[in-house]
Formats: sequence, C-alpha cells, structure tokens
Amino acid sequence: FVIPDFQDFIKDIEEMYWAAKSNTDGKNASYIPQLTRASPESWGVSVCTIDGQRFSIGDVTVPFTLQSCSKPLTYAMALETLGPDVVHNYVGTEPSGRNFNELILDYNMKPHNPMINAGAILVCSLLKTLDKPEMTLAEKFDYVMSFFSRLAGNEVLGFNNAVFLSEREAADRNYALGFYMREHKCYPEKTNLRECMDFYFQCCSMEANCDIMSIMAATLANGGICPITDEKVLRPDSVRNVLSLMHSCGMYDYSGQFAFKVGLPAKSGVSGAMLIVVPNVMGICTWSPPLDPLGNSCRGLQFCDDLIKRFNFHKYDNI
Ligand code: GLU
Repeated sequence: FVIPDFQDFIKDIEEMYWAAKSNTDGKNASYIPQLTRASPESWGVSVCTIDGQRFSIGDVTVPFTLQSCSKPLTYAMALETLGPDVVHNYVGTEPSGRNFNELILDYNMKPHNPMINAGAILVCSLLKTLDKPEMTLAEKFDYVMSFFSRLAGNEVLGFNNAVFLSEREAADRNYALGFYMREHKCYPEKTNLRECMDFYFQCCSMEANCDIMSIMAATLANGGICPITDEKVLRPDSVRNVLSLMHSCGMYDYSGQFAFKVGLPAKSGVSGAMLIVVPNVMGICTWSPPLDPLGNSCRGLQFCDDLIKRFNFHKYDNI
C-alpha cells in the first residue's frame, strides 16, 4: 500500500477535520440564491489513494455543484480528445494574476489559462465544436457527463437545474467574456456562442459529492488510471498538463500563495468544493460552502495547511 499505516493516517485526517469544523470564517457565495442558501455548517472530507484505500468524514454524500471544479475536468477531456497542441492553440498556460472572471485576454489575445472563466468557456467551445461536432448539445452533455463519471470510477453525477437556470440569469460577466472573445476571434470556426455558454453553465451545474470527487482526484494522482475501476481514462501527458495548471492557476488569485505554502495541484469552486491531488499518492476532495474573500473554501484551506504541516506532501518537501 502507498500509505502503509492507513489507520494512523485516518486519525490525522480526523483531527484535521474536527479542527477545521470549528472554523466559522467566510461567507457563502452570494451571486445566486442556491449557493447562498447552502448550509454554512456543511463540511466533508474524502480521501482515495492510488491503490484504492478510502476514508470519508462529515458531509461526504451531500451533493454540491462542481462550479469551477469542472474546469480541470473539461480541460482534461479536451486534452485527451483533441491533444495539447490543438487546445493550446486557443488557450494559454499563464496565470492571469487577476480575478477569475476578469474581462481580460493575454498578449496573444487568448484566454490566459483553462482554469479561469474565459479559458473554461473557450475549452467548452473546443469540446462542442471540434470534438465530435455532429453531436447535438444534448448528446454532448451526456458525452461529457459520462466522461466525468469514468474519471470517478463510474459513479453517477447529477445535475442541478435550479443552479443552471440561475447561472444563466446571473451571467452578465460571463456573456461579456464570451462576446469579447468572439470579437477577438478566439473560438474555432462554427462556434455557436449561445450553445457554448449554455454548455459552460451546464458543466458548472453538474453535481457530485466528496466521495465521488475524491475518486476523480485520485485518478489524476494515479496518472489517469482510475484506482477503483483500473480504467485508463487519461493519458499521462494529459494528466501532467492538468496538474501543472492546477498547481499554478487552480486557486483563484491565491494560486501563487497556495503553490508556495501547500505545493500541491488543487482546484476550488464557488460551491466550496476543493479538489486536491497528491501525485502518486492520493486524491482528496473537501467541501464546505463558506468562502474567503478570494473565493476559496475557508475550511478547505485550513485543512490543506494542516495536511502540509503533518505530512511531507509539498512538492519540494523531499529536497
Ligand atoms: N459559475 C461560476 C461562474 O462562472 C463559476 C465560478 C467558480 O466556481 O469560480 O461565475
């Protein structure tokens, strides 16, 4: 086993869980009512090692929407189906140093990276227009859902229609980004912007829980082979690219500080979810709705800080 004394490890995870549980910092996202209404008490942590050992504590089966945690997944799918050269013809690999939804492109007039809204919207256009272009939006939705599900050991994902409808209503900035990119000819030819935006909101509105997301993180930790089903879902080079950008761009405008302090690839979303990958060891998912001012889950961040204090998981710990 990659974690030989799993029982001991679990004790540490439990202590860290309870320590973060008493942290009442942060506020739920407020731009749509569904996220504002989520219980700020909710707190779950699930761990899945690359050899399939699992541990969960707290609200680990309560569904939440993926929100920005869908960004590394759609990016992974685009890399896998279209290859990195095609994808990075359209989207960069540089941290933006700006807010996740800032109306800004890089000096090539491409979105900075796939982990911010502009880049993720663009990745959605690539998946919609270049990969199996004959599919309708309905077929594409099923196709993407089943790909995500394979990353999660065939667990079934849900879809929150109220969140989807709210996202679409409250999307002035995302539409502005969408049109701004069209003005600058960022999309592949034949992109239907309305469909592309809907597809992006749908990806944000897919639902999973900590248990399911920890398997996805573990598939990334395991080089693209799902530890539960042993299916090879992603090529190692796709995983390398996804983890690289999660490392540099995954935590909003805290990404640089997180890379310095925690040194692990991770991605957070406004629902309070956080995907954390310990390469070659395990995947972790934490979920708790209250966010700090930069948009990261307060309890999730505390958990990551503690994890790095107790274990030598930081990328440069073993130097
Ligand atoms: N649906 C949100 C948006 O596009 C996602 C934000 C997030 O999780 O960062 O604004």
